[in-house]
Amino acid sequence: MILFGSPGSGKGTQAKLLRSCLKGPHISTGDMLRMHIQAHDAIGEQSEALLKSGKLVSDELVNALVEARIAEPDCRAGIILDGYPRTLQQARVLAGMMERQDFRAAVVHLIVDYEKIVARLSGRRQCPVCGTLYSLRTNPPKIAGICDLDGATLVTREDDRESVIRERLHEYESQTRPVVNYFREAGVPLIEIDGAGARPEQIVQRICEALASVGLIGGAAGSDTEAPVRAIAT
Ligand code: ADP
Repeated sequence: MILFGSPGSGKGTQAKLLRSCLKGPHISTGDMLRMHIQAHDAIGEQSEALLKSGKLVSDELVNALVEARIAEPDCRAGIILDGYPRTLQQARVLAGMMERQDFRAAVVHLIVDYEKIVARLSGRRQCPVCGTLYSLRTNPPKIAGICDLDGATLVTREDDRESVIRERLHEYESQTRPVVNYFREAGVPLIEIDGAGARPEQIVQRICEALASVGLIGGAAGSDTEAPVRAIAT
C-alpha cells in the first residue's frame, strides 16, 4: 500500500495505526534517511543538508534504499510505503520493483488543507526513542515535553520550522503531486481520504474499509479486534 499525501498529512500516524488491518512492515524513506544521519554514515552525510533544508534527496539513493528493503523476507506479506515514491522517476522504478516482486498496489491519498498542515507540523513533537508523535494542540503528552511511553525528552524535527515546512510543501507541489496521476493512469486503485476533521482512529477505519472495498484486504478493521488480513502480494 502506498500512503500518499503532502508533508504533515498524517502518513506516519496512519501507517502505525494501519497495523489494525494490514500486515507487513511500515517503510518510511524519511525514517530510513534519519537513521542514516544519526549513524553518521555515507548515506547520512549525503542527505543531511537536504533534509534540513526541506529538499528531496536523489532518486538513485532512495530507490536503492527501498529496493534493498523490499527484498527482505518480512515484506512478502505486503508493505506500507510512506513518503515513497515522491517523484515520477521513483514511481517508475517502484512500478518495476512491484512487477518483479509480484505485488498488487493501492494508493491511499490523504488530503489536508495547507494552512492546517503548517499549524500541525510547527506544533509537532516526537519521541527520539520510540518515535511516538505528539501534537501540542490536539494530542499533547501528559507531562509537557516528556514521552508518555518511555519518559524521554521530546524533540522538534529540524525540518518542522515554518520556512522549511514551506519548502517541503513546494517540493511536494512541484515534484510529488504528479505521482498521483501516474498511478491513476497505470490503473492502480486510488483511494482519496479526508485527512482532517476526524480523529486518527476514525481516519484509519475509513482507510481499512476502502482497502477492503478494492479487494486489497479481506475485511474492514473492527475498532478493538484484529481484522482478518489478506496479503497484498499476489
Ligand atoms: P514529510 O513527509 O513530513 O516531509 P518524511 O519523513 O517523509 O517527512 O521526509 C523527510 C525528508 O526526507 C524530506 O523532506 C526529504 O528531504 C527526504 N525524503 C524522504 N523520502 C524521500 C524520497 N522518497 N525522495 C527524496 N527525498 C526523500
